[in-house]
Amino acid sequence: MAELVGPALTQPGAPGASLDEIHREATICTRCELYKHAAQLVFGEGPKGAEVVFVGEQPGDKEDVAGQPFVGPAGKLLDRCLEEAGIERASCYVTNAVKHFKFEPRGKRRIHAKPTRGEVRVCAWWLAAELRLVRPKLVVALGATAAYSLLGPQVKVTRDRGSVFRSPVGLSVFVTIHPSALLRVLDQAAGRQDRARFVNDLKAIATLLEDG
Ligand code: SF4
Repeated sequence: MAELVGPALTQPGAPGASLDEIHREATICTRCELYKHAAQLVFGEGPKGAEVVFVGEQPGDKEDVAGQPFVGPAGKLLDRCLEEAGIERASCYVTNAVKHFKFEPRGKRRIHAKPTRGEVRVCAWWLAAELRLVRPKLVVALGATAAYSLLGPQVKVTRDRGSVFRSPVGLSVFVTIHPSALLRVLDQAAGRQDRARFVNDLKAIATLLEDG
């Protein structure tokens, strides 16, 4: 198992003894500019002591309105794929590398904008604290932004998908795609294949969790 490490795993993150405490502090975060335009902070959700933490990129439009992670189209797709893989969503902690929605206004719509590496690095302060407190058996990086936050710039999702990296702080990180990538596939046959491959990744995660 190779060792790579990113900003969320090279620091203890925000001090605090509970997820509720960290969440309260994060709601008034001004560490980068993104809080200025988003409706609200979207913190992680799930049980303390969850065996697995799924880390996405950032909240989307629906998550920004609801104040909850993974409740939009990509989150619903993740739910269905988790069910197919035999992983109970309620037993997982789900969160994002960046906690405020970054977007570009286009008419009445808000179009997703990719966070910069600098934004990911400052927001890793909160992700690091979540990981310290949840202390899962396995962390899953969903897509390139999460992979960068957890494993640094050397990781490449297309090359490293399905690999598990052991960090110096003792956390294992599994790399796969973000489910939003599946929503963008227009060709039906290719879409079915990609979805099946993602479910297979989740099944591999279920096996890793069972094997301890
Ligand atoms: S995106 Fe992260 S670092 Fe930036 S203001 Fe929001 S919580 Fe703070």
